[in-house]
Amino acid sequence: MPTRRSADSTDGEKLFETAVEQFDAAAELIGLPDNIRQILRSPKNEIIVNFPVELDDGELRVFRGYRVQHSDILGPYKGGLRFSPHVELDEVKALAMWMTWKTSLSNVPFGGAKGGIAFNPRNHSIGEIERIVRRFTHALGSNIGPEHDIPAPDIGSNAQAMVWMMDTYLNSGGNGDRQNTRRVVTGKTIETGGSVGRDKATGQGAAFVLAHHLEQVNRDPRGTTVAIQGFGNVGEHCARAMTHMGIRLTHVADHTGAITNDNGFDPEALWRHTSEAGGVGGYEYAEAIDVEEFFQAEVDILVPAAIENQITAARAPKIKASVVVEGANGPTSVEGEQILIDRGVEILPDVLANAGGVIVSYFEWLQNKMSARWQLNQVDDELRRYLWEAADGIEEEKKRLACTRREAAYAVALNRIGTVFEQRGIWP
Ligand code: NAD
Repeated sequence: MPTRRSADSTDGEKLFETAVEQFDAAAELIGLPDNIRQILRSPKNEIIVNFPVELDDGELRVFRGYRVQHSDILGPYKGGLRFSPHVELDEVKALAMWMTWKTSLSNVPFGGAKGGIAFNPRNHSIGEIERIVRRFTHALGSNIGPEHDIPAPDIGSNAQAMVWMMDTYLNSGGNGDRQNTRRVVTGKTIETGGSVGRDKATGQGAAFVLAHHLEQVNRDPRGTTVAIQGFGNVGEHCARAMTHMGIRLTHVADHTGAITNDNGFDPEALWRHTSEAGGVGGYEYAEAIDVEEFFQAEVDILVPAAIENQITAARAPKIKASVVVEGANGPTSVEGEQILIDRGVEILPDVLANAGGVIVSYFEWLQNKMSARWQLNQVDDELRRYLWEAADGIEEEKKRLACTRREAAYAVALNRIGTVFEQRGIWP
């Protein structure tokens, strides 16, 4: 039964309700047995830690962190860690559930998890952020581990944060096998055991998924236009990869504003601006526009690569793009998606479009395990292969079940999980 939301539910509650609604619809479509539905509707573990950190001025503040482990039926829990003042338990539960579908769809041997610390890194010094990350890692203790639960960067966190986590875990005793402990996190810097191509993997992956789709519908990417919301890790690398395909980047938006330039932006120059200014707002080679104008832009492709719930029932009717590539997690509401589908807009869903990050995280984890180093072309080629295989599986299922692309993606993911549950049985 789909859950019903009350008028005063929080954004996190709504997000979790959306995640459960999407799951229920797909479970119904493939006839997933009821006992497996019951198991997958709730996360296995919900961990909340409160921990004190001394700030630069000597004041002591207690921070709250979360780690939700949704399912480990296919392998160790895997998922990002978000630093944002808006982080709350239900939001993390939704994101953890989506990770389970994503890892299954991508056919990497991981389960699904997500975590977060409720704070705004923009309001803290590097020293304070380091202490917050280290105390959080210490508080999690053995709830994470290289064969148990492997965090990675997400909104607000980055490679440096992962290195602090790894170092803290290692120095707290790790799992006793110090050299093998590096893979307790992925998305690290190259020097500390990260993989080449991991920083750009999610954005690059979204571009690979788009290229595959355009090829299938016989559409040349060259000369098409794109609007990207978010110019962080995903948005920036998506911009680079898509402009490399010959697509003109005419609109960009982030938390500091929305900008446009008909001639197209150079992602490298825009990145230099955002690194100094903290966002795209105020970029001199652009015209500033309103965020609603951004969503109504006359473009062929729209990439929401920032936060959840951006393509809503109010915005969806006005979107001009014919393809939406979901770089962010959960950027389209259930109602917004239905409107886009009715209008014939193709949606490349988040579980596929942003799976590049977790796929290359798997490559990083493998390289650490084997003490190996892959070349960039090997990482990119393998990433493309994994994503295109997943995309082909979705298209087949979409035809067979006559359903939406998101439902088809869930069907592929749930079938794989359902089979493993059936074969393993439910113990005792
Ligand atoms: P990030 O912190 O590097 O960048 C976030 C971007 O979103 C920034 O440009 C920020 O300005 C923008 N933003 C924040 N609030 C906004 C608002 N209210 N309106 C408009 N823009 C806003 O984060 P990221 O890693 O690029 O993650 C972006 C999305 O992609 C998230 O949904 C995340 O869960 C998802 N994702 C990330 C990865 C990864 O590997 N980093 C992998 C899969 C999915």
